[in-house]
Parts: sequence; structure tokens; C-alpha cells
Amino acid sequence: MKEIDIHGIGMTSRRTRERLINRLSDQGIDSTDVLEVIRNTPRHLFVDEALSHRAYEDTALPIGFGQTLSQPYIVARMTQALMAAGPLDRVLEIGTGSGYQTAVLSPLVKKVYSVERIKPLHERAKKLLRTLSIHNAQLKLSDGGMGWSVMSPFDGIIVTAAPDQIPEELLQQLSEGNGRLIIPVGGRGVQDLLLITRQGDTFKKEMLEAVRLVPLLDGVQK
Ligand code: SAH
Repeated sequence: MKEIDIHGIGMTSRRTRERLINRLSDQGIDSTDVLEVIRNTPRHLFVDEALSHRAYEDTALPIGFGQTLSQPYIVARMTQALMAAGPLDRVLEIGTGSGYQTAVLSPLVKKVYSVERIKPLHERAKKLLRTLSIHNAQLKLSDGGMGWSVMSPFDGIIVTAAPDQIPEELLQQLSEGNGRLIIPVGGRGVQDLLLITRQGDTFKKEMLEAVRLVPLLDGVQK
């Protein structure tokens, strides 16, 4: 009998998704909210069709322009760390890329702002998120090292590309009472994934784990 495929998600994909969720949970992702959004987010739509059969493997995948969609474990880990102190209203993401992380954040927060420096990636993500009826995300083409000051302060900022050092602008755009910044620091190679929490003018720094993301670059690429 032919399968009825309501959302363009085949049975195989449903099984492999479940396998991914089990793997994330085995690796210490214990937020049911995070596991649930990852289960429900169609990662295969965020990568090239030729790679969609690998979309539910726990692996980073290329999205063009030398960029990669992070491994699901990293997306889950960063999202869980961002959300760990309770619900957030306004979140800024630096590095929209495919839009997958934006889509994961969308049901978890009131409003997601996301900036990307590569124009074709920005445009593709914008279109895809619209197709998926994600309406609480606002995307902008710009250099995220400067944050998005007119929309600040943010309860959370999540940076999905690695700078050499924490951009001061991002610290200043965090909410004074408990704003949270998740950021990989160390440029090219292996970075420290840090959680910075703000209380007034005090910034507390916590090392989460070693990660390997693409570098944060300057300027906009049209
Ligand atoms: N969150 C993305 C991850 C993409 S990889 C996803 O879910 O697909 C990181 C992205 O950060 C790349 O698309 C890269 O172009 C972008 N990036 C790098 N430096 C940037 C900067 N200064 N400002 C905005 N985006 C940047």
C-alpha cells in the first residue's frame, strides 16, 4: 500500500527522526521542549535535496557558500542552554544560515530576530520560513558582530558562528536582568562554547563545552 505523506515526511524519515531524538537524549539533552521542537522541525527542508536523506543524522551539513548547518546535538545543546533559566521573550540569533536554528527557536520564544551576512542565504531562509508559516521571526541582512541595536535589549542572544573574542556590542544588547548569551569563542578551529549571563553591569561566564563551528566573519557579502 502506498504511504500517505501529509507533510512531505516519509515513514523512513519519521523513524530516523525518532532515532535522532533518542540519540540526543542519550547525549544529555533532557529538555522535553527542545527534543519536541527538534522532532517537529523538518531539517530535511533546510539542506540541499541531494543531502536530505542525511538530514536526521547527528552531523553538520553544508548549506553552500562555505557554510554549514550545525550538528543537531550542537543546535539542541545551544538551544537548551539558552532556555535553561525559563521562557524568553526576545531572542537574537547571529548567523541565520539555512534558517534551521531560527525555526527551532520559533515555537520556544515570543519573537526571534536573526541576522545573516551572506545575501543568498538570508533570502533563502526568509523564503523557507515563510513557506513553513513561521511568522514570529524577523530576518535581516547585516554583520551580526554589531548585533541589532534598535531591536535590543534581548533576553537571549545565540551566536552560531565563532568570533575570536566576544563582541562588546552583543554584551551591551543583553537585557540587564538575566540576559543570556550563548557564544562559541576562539575563531577558526576548536572553540569554547560559553554562556554569559548579565546582571546589571556584571557578566558571569560559564564554559559549556568545546565545539567546532564556522568562523564569524566581518561585513556583508551580496
Ligand atoms: N544557524 C545556522 C548556522 C549556519 S553557519 C543554521 O541553522 O543553519 C553560521 C552562519 O553564520 C553562516 O551562514 C555565516 O554566513 C553566518 N555568519 C558568519 N559571520 C557572520 C556575521 N558577522 N554576521 C552575520 N552572520 C554571520
